[in-house]
Amino acid sequence: MKIIAGNWKMNGSLAMLRDMYAAIADVKTNNIVVLCPPFTLLNVRHMDGVECPKHLIIGAQDISEHDGGTFTGDISAKMVAESGAKYVIVGHSERRANHGETSELVAKKAVKAIENKLMPIICVGENAAQRESGSAFDVVGEMVRKSIPNIDSEIIVAYEPVWAISAGKIETGKNDRTATTRDIAEMHVFIADILKEIGRAGTKILYGGSVKGSNAAEIMAIPNVDGALVGGASLKASDFVATVLAADIN
Ligand code: PEP
Repeated sequence: MKIIAGNWKMNGSLAMLRDMYAAIADVKTNNIVVLCPPFTLLNVRHMDGVECPKHLIIGAQDISEHDGGTFTGDISAKMVAESGAKYVIVGHSERRANHGETSELVAKKAVKAIENKLMPIICVGENAAQRESGSAFDVVGEMVRKSIPNIDSEIIVAYEPVWAISAGKIETGKNDRTATTRDIAEMHVFIADILKEIGRAGTKILYGGSVKGSNAAEIMAIPNVDGALVGGASLKASDFVATVLAADIN
């Protein structure tokens, strides 16, 4: 059983959510399917006779490290939990790059998630310059060690090399870079070893970076890959369904 989590980023509308609910309702899969729409859609569970299917878990894309108070624009873990969401992404590379989020901050957010019974998906991943300079393993190792809080509770880790997100478009403006099976396998075993060392053997490790229907089966078959975090291919219902089904390799 794999975990396939869609991350809509700053995309989405009521119409898109309705289409997704209708499409996922018909999907039979052994995978755990998660959808992380923007905050404004988190508690929308039915529209025009279409219900959120029971086998679709809703998650948020971020939470505050604070419980509440004078933090204009921020959303707490408690608010997200009250919306009915069960998962939350923390430390996505776009939060780290665009909002200066450090691994220490990400760990604080993960603590708030756990305290509010949200499953944190803790993202780590090196950028293109770090990969090219040969420091990818050092960077990711440090991110894993510092972003995971020292609390005895289940978490999920997502390895997302920044240079492979949107096929490299974010970093280079071109859509021409994807990770090879070997790139993914090497980093996932490296992360799995660190997780073992810190007493978290068996933690699920998702891969993210241009996963879609045409490559999901191959990526899911790589050792230590327990699922996928899916950006672009989660936006259109038919693409997300194709990814969920292709990933159902068991
Ligand atoms: C992401 O940013 O989480 C992601 C994996 O995006 P994409 O699938 O579009 O590369």
